[in-house]
Amino acid sequence: MPEIYDIAIIGTGPAGVSAALTAKARNLNMVWFGNKDISKKVSLAEQIHNYPGLIRVSGREMQETFQKQIEAEELAITEKVINQIFPMGKQYALFSGQESWMAKTVLLAMGMAPSTTMKGEAEFLGKGVSYCATCDGRLYAGRKIAVYCTNPEFEPEVEFLADLAAEVWVYPTYQDFSVVRDNIRILSDAPVEVCGEDFVSGIRIKSGQTSQDADILPVDGIFCLKDSYSPVTLVRGLEMEGSHIKVNRRQETNITGCYAAGDCTGRPYQYAKAVGEGNVAVHSILDYLHSSFSV
Ligand SMILES: Cc1cc2nc3c(=O)[nH]c(=O)nc-3n(C[C@H](O)[C@H](O)[C@H](O)COP(=O)(O)OP(=O)(O)OC[C@H]3O[C@@H](n4cnc5c(N)ncnc54)[C@H](O)[C@@H]3O)c2cc1C
Repeated sequence: MPEIYDIAIIGTGPAGVSAALTAKARNLNMVWFGNKDISKKVSLAEQIHNYPGLIRVSGREMQETFQKQIEAEELAITEKVINQIFPMGKQYALFSGQESWMAKTVLLAMGMAPSTTMKGEAEFLGKGVSYCATCDGRLYAGRKIAVYCTNPEFEPEVEFLADLAAEVWVYPTYQDFSVVRDNIRILSDAPVEVCGEDFVSGIRIKSGQTSQDADILPVDGIFCLKDSYSPVTLVRGLEMEGSHIKVNRRQETNITGCYAAGDCTGRPYQYAKAVGEGNVAVHSILDYLHSSFSV
């Protein structure tokens, strides 16, 4: 039987750090996903004037302070990007590629990702849209696929797909994409829509730069290899308010056992707000665990 954690925290920004510290203080059995560099949004800040206890520090100094505190509290970060979360009865299954974890509650503290979800992406997930080359690559052996690649770290997955597929159209969102294969073609404009009826049959390209210079490039599937995922593709049925996850003052979402905190729940985008919500969310989770699981 896999271990079932009390809480799975997604995100190592200020909201996630605050939640993890509170969960540790309250002795919860947790698994915490993100990265050891904390958050790009923290490290990029030039000077921070509005965070209590830290006087005119740079983002890097704040990042180091968080890292030291995480180390002092012996908190473990699992450096994985979660790409699917499924409610299973009173528990959740969380996936990063082929790896999975089980938890009684989930806290989404994933920040505000730039909105890179294509039209049709959520609709065709599992019907030609995939987030995992290792899991689904073999389905496309000898076929024609597209890959939306957001990070050089995913290039080994592109190579794996190129070994299987007949033709691979890649849209890298960064400079210096380095995979060279006879069957790889580079798209210079972004795919903006996944098209098809029951299953993916093509992708619409912004300005129509395909081999036939057509607007729609016919493909059998598209792999979206991304650093972050929109909340609605991560958790099906999650209620949103515009581009933010809808929560109440207890940080509860519309899905029982699923909570959200930080920038992903709305403005103001500020460290203090993220930290406060992370703390509130864990207190609400404690109440829920107590009433539903007698933890
Ligand atoms: C340049 C800049 C300067 C700023 N200056 C200030 C300031 O002076 N004062 C202030 O109050 N605020 C400032 N902010 C805003 C502040 O950075 C944010 O409000 C804060 O970082 C939000 O924290 P968060 O935890 O909600 O999200 P983030 O800090 O965005 O953290 C989200 C985390 O989730 C992880 N993640 C996302 N998706 C997944 C996934 N699927 N699986 C696993 N992990 C995932 C990310 O890797 C990241 O670690 C600044 C922002 C920027 C960009």
